[in-house]
Amino acid sequence: MAEPKTSEATKQIVYLAAALKAPRITEAATRLADQARDAGWTYEDYLAAVLEREVAARNASGAQLRIKAAGFGFPKTLEEFDWDAQPQVRPQIGALASGGFLTEARNVVLLGPPGTGKTHLATALGVAAARHGHRVLFATATEWVTRLTEVHRAGRLPQELARLRRFGLIIVDEVGYLPFEQDAANLFFQLVSSRYEHASLILTSNLPFSGWGGVFGDQAVAAAMIDRIVHHADVLTLKGASYRLRGKGIDSLPSISTTTPETDA
Ligand code: ADP
Ligand code: MG
Repeated sequence: MAEPKTSEATKQIVYLAAALKAPRITEAATRLADQARDAGWTYEDYLAAVLEREVAARNASGAQLRIKAAGFGFPKTLEEFDWDAQPQVRPQIGALASGGFLTEARNVVLLGPPGTGKTHLATALGVAAARHGHRVLFATATEWVTRLTEVHRAGRLPQELARLRRFGLIIVDEVGYLPFEQDAANLFFQLVSSRYEHASLILTSNLPFSGWGGVFGDQAVAAAMIDRIVHHADVLTLKGASYRLRGKGIDSLPSISTTTPETDA
């Protein structure tokens, strides 16, 4: 009779799966064994199906942990993005979502007026990267500078930059939202330099590159930084009115109106 044998084997599977710290094997092994018998799977088919369940579950929970640890304000995905609002970037974002840019340590820069989806897309690319197994950290430019200033004061900047290089992706949201003091600009420059050709950055900004000199207080620092960022980068420009203001009868925000003389420069 097969019955006693099966239950003996099942007990052993429970023990062995626990020893391997692979708890889903216990559940999948029994359930899939019935399916395998019914469908006449080969031993190899059965083993592959069982192991596949464990690997899929591990990847999913690893991705969940990486997404949590990344510090996204609101986790957003590409599935939630309305491409009709930004059709021109769809092919490029689609290609970036496969994660190839991370293994090449390439950067992504998302430029455009407020509300056009820069933070959404940066976050969604970060979520995709986490799903591909990369460690990700998200913060605004101001938050990065605050963190770096603290570690610099504590004399640990080189160690921190080395630690950050182990993250495949660092997202710097809202470059240019606030101008930097010179010390802050230098710290930010060091972050960019330390990742150059080692690990990826995604930056978002509502300013074109020509406006970055004002943010970093120095054209030379800004130029050197932009040079390193865009040497291996995809630069995407989002266009149009704020998605937040859609359907509210407001065409544009004062700061991005093309008719105000201050922003014509
Ligand atoms: P930005 O960073 O460019 O100022 P956000 O990415 O923060 O803009 O977008 C503002 C809000 O509008 C967010 O809630 C975002 O999810 C949403 N949003 C922007 N563009 C789109 C879009 N094309 N499809 C769906 N939601 C969008
Ligand atoms: Mg934003």
